[in-house]
Amino acid sequence: MADPAERVAPASVCHVHSHQAQGSPGKISSIPAPMHPTLVWFENDLRLHDHPALEAAARGGAPIVPLFVWNGGDGWGKGAASQWWLHHSLVAFSDSLADVGLSLVVRRGDPETIVPEVARSINAGLVTWLERPDTARAERDSRIEKALECPVRRFGGALLHDPEQIRTGSGGPYKVFTPFYRKFAEEVAVEKPSGVAPLDGLESPPSIDSESIDSLGLLPTIPWDEGLAECWTPGEAGARSRLADLELEDYAEERDIPSIEGTSRLSPHLHFGEVSPREVWHVVGNIEPYRRQLVWRDFAHHLIHHFPETRDRPLRKEFESFPWRRDDEELARWQKGQTGYPIVDAGMRQLWHTGWMHNRVRMVVASFLTKHLLHTWLDGQAWFEDTLVDADLANNVFGWQWAGGCGADAQPFFRIFNPMTQGKKFDPKGAYVRKWVPELADLPNKVIHEPWTADNVPENYPAPIVDHKEARERALSAYQKTRN
Ligand SMILES: Cc1cc2nc3c(=O)[nH]c(=O)nc-3n(C[C@H](O)[C@H](O)[C@H](O)COP(=O)(O)OP(=O)(O)OC[C@H]3O[C@@H](n4cnc5c(N)ncnc54)[C@H](O)[C@@H]3O)c2cc1C
Repeated sequence: MADPAERVAPASVCHVHSHQAQGSPGKISSIPAPMHPTLVWFENDLRLHDHPALEAAARGGAPIVPLFVWNGGDGWGKGAASQWWLHHSLVAFSDSLADVGLSLVVRRGDPETIVPEVARSINAGLVTWLERPDTARAERDSRIEKALECPVRRFGGALLHDPEQIRTGSGGPYKVFTPFYRKFAEEVAVEKPSGVAPLDGLESPPSIDSESIDSLGLLPTIPWDEGLAECWTPGEAGARSRLADLELEDYAEERDIPSIEGTSRLSPHLHFGEVSPREVWHVVGNIEPYRRQLVWRDFAHHLIHHFPETRDRPLRKEFESFPWRRDDEELARWQKGQTGYPIVDAGMRQLWHTGWMHNRVRMVVASFLTKHLLHTWLDGQAWFEDTLVDADLANNVFGWQWAGGCGADAQPFFRIFNPMTQGKKFDPKGAYVRKWVPELADLPNKVIHEPWTADNVPENYPAPIVDHKEARERALSAYQKTRN
């Protein structure tokens, strides 16, 4: 009979590594003994459903010690809004584990020290976790695997596909979405998700010290998080309830309209692994435009996996020497939603208040910062990283480099979104602007995206930070210099 751990982890999305498989003679003797506890190490995969590593541990029959190690979340949970989310997600996860008789062990420090230390202290027979697709964490995990003195099993589950699986005809990674998507459709059969791991009837694990979730200090010290709490329910139950309530029949038509809930708002739940992407894939069924967005997510992770340097450098090398400007006052006005361009300001205020911004508006505000204001995409990426509840290294880098014209399959630099046209097209009655920029609420539809043309220009709303036409010409000329 196949090893249960291997059975639960389908080949297309899973890697199984064990010291036995790698043939390390010193470690062959440490075959998992049933009574030796299994250590399951969680990071941004805080769920009980469709978690192959937890399921493998449960099927192994040994007592389970679930471990979470916090070291600042570099690359996946560093920002203030992310940390707010993480706190609540950890509380919810810890409660769910307690319901099935497991106690989450929380530690602060470097996982390279702590994971082997905890494994040793419980005399673990097996350590298991879900693979992290970004290269920095994957390399760290490989070092941890080497340092462990017992077998290790690592599983896929963070993405729909294994980032090594899809290659161009010449064996390289893809840089353009459409052929990537075609290849994905040909080669990836997204596995059905499994349910909750069978955790009943396991022996109690040894008691082991844990820090409290509160002591990680993830919550803000000044209360700016009310808006976030109004909008979101972090944790697996919140994710599953959002998934159960999805109505995506009109997704293709509605996904670009920021004033309505036309998208799933699953991004933070996906980022923190409270629901698996393959479960979302199967629940939404054949709604191709939605599934396509999930594949964009895999594409962004494919890129950061193969081009890890792009976390702070442009994929298109000519942009290394781009003449970006730096003006702290302008940056602050953009961050606060005080640029004088209503659609931009509405987006930035939605972000500040809710920790999330509609995708169409993310594209507009990112284009505005990089092209109208000529600020580097890194400034925008950093602000998003701090303020988005779904801040995700791969998606954020990808989105910013796309908007700034310097990434894979990017919007060419010379295509500059016109904020007035974008507003009129996607928010024709100004409902989105009226909600987030109340100073403009009384303006008629025809001027709401150009308030400076109104008969009564609202006094408490700023004049445009730059003239659209001049800013456009300045951006094109900077681009021309780089090309030359
Ligand atoms: C400048 C910029 C920065 C961005 N930063 C992030 C980020 O840090 N984290 C993040 O999750 N998304 C980011 N995105 C992508 C996108 O805006 C969000 O994923 C989306 O708005 C989330 O809302 P939703 O869950 O309702 O999306 P839906 O429309 O319901 O899409 C479903 C899921 O598909 C994925 N997805 C959708 N669009 C994209 C995309 N363009 N790229 C990659 N994945 C996508 C997300 O996981 C999303 O939850 C960014 C986009 C831009 C333009």
